[in-house]
Amino acid sequence: MDIADNLNEINIRIKNALNAAGRSEDDIVLIGVTKYAKAAEIEAAVNAGLIHLGENRVQDFLKKYEAIDNSRIKWHFIGKLQRNKVKYIINKVSLIHSLDNLPLAREINRHALASNIIMPVLVQVNIANEVTKSGLPIEEVLPFIETLYSLKNIQVKGLMTIAPLVDDPEDAKPCFRAMKQLFNELKSYNYPHTDIKYLSMGMTNDFEVAISEGSNMIRIGRGIFTSK
Ligand SMILES: *Cc1c(COP(=O)(O)O)cnc(C)c1O
Repeated sequence: MDIADNLNEINIRIKNALNAAGRSEDDIVLIGVTKYAKAAEIEAAVNAGLIHLGENRVQDFLKKYEAIDNSRIKWHFIGKLQRNKVKYIINKVSLIHSLDNLPLAREINRHALASNIIMPVLVQVNIANEVTKSGLPIEEVLPFIETLYSLKNIQVKGLMTIAPLVDDPEDAKPCFRAMKQLFNELKSYNYPHTDIKYLSMGMTNDFEVAISEGSNMIRIGRGIFTSK
């Protein structure tokens, strides 16, 4: 498997999708999702220019974090986060994508305060109200974000979602569109404890549709780290 070729191909498809949407070619953050990757494969991707990496399990993240040179890497935590695991990742990741409840927010805030940092987070949205998925239902997102104002060591940077798995990615379009609308609304409020920049949506099977609907942060696993 040639990771550099995979990455190159994904980057071309991203540029094409941005061009088709009339957007600037640098208006995107590509996160390589490493859950299927071994340390050597992650290093190959980093050597080929990948900067942002994402993991969805704390244990796996810590193993990989210890195994590789992180000096050029920005890590993202993208999976379900248990409160008792926050302490393991707080000083190692640049963005937590999966905030969806107040007890977790309080715990992140507590550890961020102790570490003297402001932790950037995204709020995860369960856009299609799927029982199997984490995230807040769309109507709870803005009230939830309002309740975070007193947590001074958290800064909300935007929203994340995992779209429903569908055969034709075009079918996920209404979900991406609803996310973009919510993102714009959130941004327009200019809450002082927020700095709304990132709309994290789009994975291997649907990232082009997500980009066409305004995603500016995509999370690609299989497209980079598995052979075709
Ligand atoms: C695994 C995973 C991805 C990447 O999925 P692919 O289909 O492999 O691109 C993105 N986001 C989250 C939260 C994931 O768990």
